[in-house]
Amino acid sequence: MSDDTATKPKNPLAGLNLTFLAPAAGAATTPVGPATTSGEPVSARVVIVGSGPAGLTAAIYAARANLAPTVIGGVVGGGQLMITSEVENYPGFPDGIQGPELMGLFKAQAERFGAKIVDADVDRVDLGVRPFRLWAAGVEYHADAVIVATGAEALWLGLDSETRLRGRGVSACATCDGFFFRDKEIAVVGGGDSALEEALYLTHFASKVHLIHRRDAFRGSKIMQDRVASHPKIELHLNRTVEEIVGDEHVEAIRLGKTDQPGDETLTLDGVFVAIGHRPNAAVFHGWLETDEKGYLRTDGATTATKIEGVFVAGDVDDSRYRQAVTAAGEGCRAAIDAERWLEGQESHLPSGASAGTVAG
Ligand code: NAP
Repeated sequence: MSDDTATKPKNPLAGLNLTFLAPAAGAATTPVGPATTSGEPVSARVVIVGSGPAGLTAAIYAARANLAPTVIGGVVGGGQLMITSEVENYPGFPDGIQGPELMGLFKAQAERFGAKIVDADVDRVDLGVRPFRLWAAGVEYHADAVIVATGAEALWLGLDSETRLRGRGVSACATCDGFFFRDKEIAVVGGGDSALEEALYLTHFASKVHLIHRRDAFRGSKIMQDRVASHPKIELHLNRTVEEIVGDEHVEAIRLGKTDQPGDETLTLDGVFVAIGHRPNAAVFHGWLETDEKGYLRTDGATTATKIEGVFVAGDVDDSRYRQAVTAAGEGCRAAIDAERWLEGQESHLPSGASAGTVAG
């Protein structure tokens, strides 16, 4: 590998016709997919909300079961793997694969079997009537069954300075923004696998990576801890909390508090990557579906069914424990099978001819 390719990020989208791309700033969020021009609702036997590993695996299974699912996948589809660099633990890829490339393959597989994917966010639902109703980007969707696979999103520290400097050196996505920090000094905050992975990834660009964690031990996997500890570009700062990110127009420094001794310290650097975990994307379903104390959706435990018959949940939105692409994909499979079996005993509430089974062959 030449020096050039060693320092440039791989183009994870190369060779794939993907539409999992963020719209340009200010771009309209008109849904792409089966929207009606007449204002009539779009009907599908199964609507899947979310297009990460859970949603797209559910789509593959539902499509192959002749249910012609519509996936309302989010304006920025693909889920968390779209902001993940190398995925080394997804079975079937012994050399690893870039997160966006993996999601492109999921999507292509779902579409091959007839799944329709809409790039829009669901902003309202009514799960109190049949057919279930969902609204996304001004379009109304009707479904006999719904699979919720909306995933989780990055958490922030909650500092005013962090909010003010977001996009000006503060980021929660190393894959998106690492390139801008070539030969710069940066910090990664957090002690889980995300922080360890981002710190390692960012060594491809940065001259130095300060890894800041509030405790004296990481919670990330041992193999990642070992890699981080032995990396010449990574300096560990344990028992440190971020008190302030310093800078007017852009990040200039970070002020750290010490949890094991008095005093604070300031590191001069150019960027801060926050990697402290995630929050389930469940807000639109609050009031309809049960949640746990952290806001994750609840299923009946044995299956992916919820307290509302015909509504199923899969992936990180109900999983605060495993949160892996492969477990999310597995749950998507379970949800599609649960939905299919439940639908077998149900009459469709959709207008005749509108229900699926007519699309996928
Ligand atoms: P996580 O495991 O929940 O870790 C979050 C980290 O951020 C913890 O170390 C936590 O500190 C710290 N933290 C939380 N709030 C903070 C705050 N306000 N200020 C400072 N620090 C804070 O989250 P994650 O790393 O995103 O990982 C989530 C799941 O995905 C895990 O199961 C992980 O194994 C998995 N994952 C796997 C891979 C991979 O295998 N390639 C990659 C990424 C993630 P404490 O430790 O003190 O609680």
